[in-house]
Amino acid sequence: MSAIAIIGVGPRGLSTLERIIAHLTPADCVTVHLIDPHPPGGRVWRADQSRHLLMNTTAGDATMYLDETVQVNSPRFDGLTLFDWAQDISGHLGEDAVDDDLRAEIDVITPVTSVSRRLYGTYLGWVYRELLGRVPTGSRIETHACEAIAIEQRGDREVVTLSDERAIEVDSVVLAIGHTDTEDRLRTPRSQFIYIAPGQPAEQDWSVVPEGEAVVVRGLGLNFYDTMALLTLGRGGRFAPCEDGSLTYLPSGKEPILWAGSRRGIPFKAKSITTTRATPLDMRYPSRETLARLEDARGAIDFDRDMWPWVRKEALWQTALAELRSTNPARSTELAERFDAAPGATTPDRASLRSDFGIEYAFDPDRTGAPFEDVQFDDPAAFDHAIRGWIDDDLAEAALGETSVVKLGDRAIGAARAWIFPLASYGGLEGRSHRARLEGWYAGYANSLAGGPPALRVRQLAALIDAQVVRMLGAGMHVQDASEGVVARSLTTPHRVVHARALIEARLPDADVERTASTLLSSLHAKKRVRPYALPSPVGINPLTAGGIDVTEAPFRVVDGHGVPNPRVFALGVPVGPHVGTSFTAFARSNSAFLRQTDSVAAAALRLARGDDQRENVRR
Ligand SMILES: Cc1cc2nc3c(=O)[nH]c(=O)nc-3n(C[C@H](O)[C@H](O)[C@H](O)COP(=O)(O)OP(=O)(O)OC[C@H]3O[C@@H](n4cnc5c(N)ncnc54)[C@H](O)[C@@H]3O)c2cc1C
Repeated sequence: MSAIAIIGVGPRGLSTLERIIAHLTPADCVTVHLIDPHPPGGRVWRADQSRHLLMNTTAGDATMYLDETVQVNSPRFDGLTLFDWAQDISGHLGEDAVDDDLRAEIDVITPVTSVSRRLYGTYLGWVYRELLGRVPTGSRIETHACEAIAIEQRGDREVVTLSDERAIEVDSVVLAIGHTDTEDRLRTPRSQFIYIAPGQPAEQDWSVVPEGEAVVVRGLGLNFYDTMALLTLGRGGRFAPCEDGSLTYLPSGKEPILWAGSRRGIPFKAKSITTTRATPLDMRYPSRETLARLEDARGAIDFDRDMWPWVRKEALWQTALAELRSTNPARSTELAERFDAAPGATTPDRASLRSDFGIEYAFDPDRTGAPFEDVQFDDPAAFDHAIRGWIDDDLAEAALGETSVVKLGDRAIGAARAWIFPLASYGGLEGRSHRARLEGWYAGYANSLAGGPPALRVRQLAALIDAQVVRMLGAGMHVQDASEGVVARSLTTPHRVVHARALIEARLPDADVERTASTLLSSLHAKKRVRPYALPSPVGINPLTAGGIDVTEAPFRVVDGHGVPNPRVFALGVPVGPHVGTSFTAFARSNSAFLRQTDSVAAAALRLARGDDQRENVRR
């Protein structure tokens, strides 16, 4: 019988299954093997994890189905977003399957709620069961609750070896293995300190983090907010509302004291508080002609020269327009003409805009997410005061919802990912610029501004700072091994020195095929069945490699160590690089790239299973 193996059944593997089933006809006779040690939905979204771990995507955005915005010419099923599904959760799952925590969540859910990860996992599990009912007679789905550890070629088929020693022969393989762990240099620290290595918060052993003691946390992104929730709410602490809308923390006494810092020294900003999905930004820059020129320059694009100036211009244009709309909307066209007249990516002179249009024009794209870089506080208490004020300001902007000029500018910087990521994928940027400026700066910066947590988490952070359960270290954080622990400092507060017995890395491991802990990936790499993606480099300079593996453009065939695409093995998501923006799940009503990608892989994998694709022209 014809067969396809999907390795990894997180959102990408599940969506690939959905797409295969949508393409199947009653004439097909195909077995789809689903291989994952975790139930469908996958490792990140396990339904048995703490209810305190939240998804960052909102309920109305999270979906596994193609809506009318998704531009593919393929069959599609009617399906529910997480929000629509949650409206009748008992009907879908049965009354007994909905526990008190899920019920409490559903009672207050709106399309803009950031739900718990376990609720999304529960939704994905339901999607899987719903899909089983749609498989045409003749084809079938088989699940294997184990790891795939090797893939070997046998003639024009592939043999997947499983960790339980069985082997499955298939016509095509889809690798959708998501975030894998990395052999971390610091996993065995030199001195005797308690070390929480980069990893998935739901899987880490938090019981080793001592109560009542200083603990250093490196990183202030989404993993930091998870760490904060697990070590406070997860240890029995509670937040009580105050009359002014803020929160007070009621400790359980089991919390550590979290000394947190990072390169930029500020936590990811709060999402705006809205009751409906934010209106998509009507982006003005760069123009189509500029994008076409950048497309032609692929391989030699320099982030600072060719991309960031346009992001700045867009953010300044959006914020200037928003200010003018609230004071003198009749002059919007004039303002647009002034921006268009500024050559290339330059922007109109600040002083003349202020005097001619009567707007403040104060948004600073370069410092909106880095207010403390290059700032030193001799008195640490003055920094404590400053960062607490910065958090209050961020919450005040979040409360303004779509009318906040600052949040609009931040969103514009984040929204630029929509044109930057496709250009940066498949080696669009010159390697050093890609490494240092796109990966090393913009991707995290944009995420910190536009991909932060719900405002509730930032209100909780403010309360924890007030309760001195969280203490901020500042920007330019530096951690050193010491004889009985670690010593942390920052450039912002040079006179503050924190000694601790425990260090928490609040981040995910890097996707790096050369350091991966995945038996499957490392065996594929060792046998030269995959290779790291080489970033474009000037002649005579050794190319830098991206952490991810080399694939062709859609349908993402893996490229072997000799540069030859494998017609039968496809890879999607995090392990692929530089295929930028691969760590998101699917978003509704957005012509989701995720869904277009799984559709193209599903169609190609199925063509092989049907024997339609033996001689397909493989495009690099
Ligand atoms: C903690 C965390 C929170 C996140 N929150 C969000 C969010 O709110 N919104 C968002 O858009 N994105 C979020 N992401 C990004 C996340 O990558 C995507 O949402 C999504 O889960 C990616 O789907 P995937 O199927 O590509 O990978 P994954 O979800 O990582 O699934 C991969 C699956 O492959 C399996 N696997 C791996 N190796 C093997 C093997 N050798 N054999 C068999 N199975 C294997 C794993 O067990 C896993 O189930 C988050 C990621 C993490 C880690």
